[in-house]
Parts: sequence; C-alpha cells; structure tokens
Amino acid sequence: MRSTSRSTEISRPASAAVLRRKTAFISRLLERRLGIPRRQSPPAPPLDMLIATILSQNTSDGNSHRAYSELRRQFPTWELVAGASPAALRTAIRTGGMANQKSVRIQETLAAVLQMYGTYDLSSIRKLSSEEVIRRLTAFKGVGAKTAACVLLFSLRRDVFPVDTHVHRLCTRLGLAPGSRTPEETFEAMKSLVPPGKAHSFHTNLIRFGRTICRPSNPRCGECPLYGRCSFEGKAAPGGSRNTPARPGRDFMLLDNV
Ligand code: SF4
Repeated sequence: MRSTSRSTEISRPASAAVLRRKTAFISRLLERRLGIPRRQSPPAPPLDMLIATILSQNTSDGNSHRAYSELRRQFPTWELVAGASPAALRTAIRTGGMANQKSVRIQETLAAVLQMYGTYDLSSIRKLSSEEVIRRLTAFKGVGAKTAACVLLFSLRRDVFPVDTHVHRLCTRLGLAPGSRTPEETFEAMKSLVPPGKAHSFHTNLIRFGRTICRPSNPRCGECPLYGRCSFEGKAAPGGSRNTPARPGRDFMLLDNV
C-alpha cells in the first residue's frame, strides 16, 4: 500500500540539523525557566572531582555530599584515604550508600593514580585534550565515560556534556537521541548536538528538570513546558498526569559543591 506523503514525513528520522535546533531550543527554554546554573569557583581539583563522582554513584547528591564531606573531615589528604583501614573508610562514607564497593573503588583508584602519576594529584591532565583525558581516566578500573566527562566539565571547565542515567532518560524521551539504548550511546549522540558553551547549563538544567518534572516514574506531563516537543510514548495525555508536589531542596548539585 502506498504511504501518504505525511506518513512518510513522520517516519523519516530527524536530521542532525533538526536535532541540533531542537537541542538549542530546549536548552534556551530550560535556561529561561530555571536560569543559568551557578558554577563552583574555583572548581575542585580533578582528583577531588573524580573521587566525588565515584561517591555520587547510585545515590542522591545530598547523601553523597554528606559522605564526601565526612571523608575529607576524617581523612584530610588523599594519602590518608589511601592508607586508611577499609573499615574506617567504609564508616566515613556510609551515608553515600554502597560503602563496601565504593571504599574499595576509591582506594584502587588512588593506588592507580599514584602508580601512573607518582603523586596523589591529577593536575597534569589539565594540559591534555578532552579525548586524551577520557582515555586516561577510563583506564582506571570502574571509571566510565560519564565519570570522566564529569571531571572534564566540573573540574577542568571543558565544554563536555556528561550523560548519566537521568540525562539519558531525558534525551531519549525528548527525542534528542533517538535509538540510543544506553547513556554511553547518548553521550556519543549528544556530542554534536549541545550548543557550544552550553554543556554545563544544559546538563545541570536537565538534571533539575528531571528531578521536578520529568521524573523517572509518574512524570508531571500536565505541567511540562516541553510537552509539545516530547517524543515519549508513555507521556500522559495533556492534563492527565497524576501530579504530586515536587519535593523541596531538589536543586542541590554535588559536583558544583565539591
Ligand atoms: S511531556 Fe512528560 S515525559 Fe515528556 S518531557 Fe514532559 S514530563 Fe517528560
């Protein structure tokens, strides 16, 4: 059966130019709604950011911030963290969850940093290209592209757009990374789409938007300013979502407060 020109048009994948324009539109809209996010000044050193990012996995920013603060209070230098007893380290970071795995990962990472750089300091990566920084950091066991991108964006102030599970959810629901199945695929897809200079603003505002409106379950579609731009098949009919009040204090970003 012949398809109509309209159905042919709908089924055609969006071109890169269309996706770039849509990404820029959403970035501007979120800035109008949520503002341009504040940045930490001065930014944290790269090793601090790497350890904070490891602590932030699978927990809220509030819990991981408490864990990171307690870690630095009890062990003010990375030498002390590297030499701490596993039990003491687990206790210090307990509020961040998964303390067994994270304490091991932190000490393994510090050992690898010392072996590779001869010091508990990653400042020398500042002179490297972003691609080389990703290659170096992901050589550490358990450090993925998302963690490396967070070090680049939040510590080295590079215009790199990290993609975690939340940013992946939003980019796919909004149709910016159609067909991407993992955060890693979305990270690659978004490289050419995020407007220059907007990686921090867009990343941070997507996280905030995902905490308050486009939540993992029961998104507040009825009050979503991006409803007409959303490609998510599971979105609620206009005015039909079961809206519940957003929780207060959902604006805290760990990696801008290391
Ligand atoms: S319409 Fe619903 S699913 Fe789509 S972006 Fe908005 S909140 Fe998310």
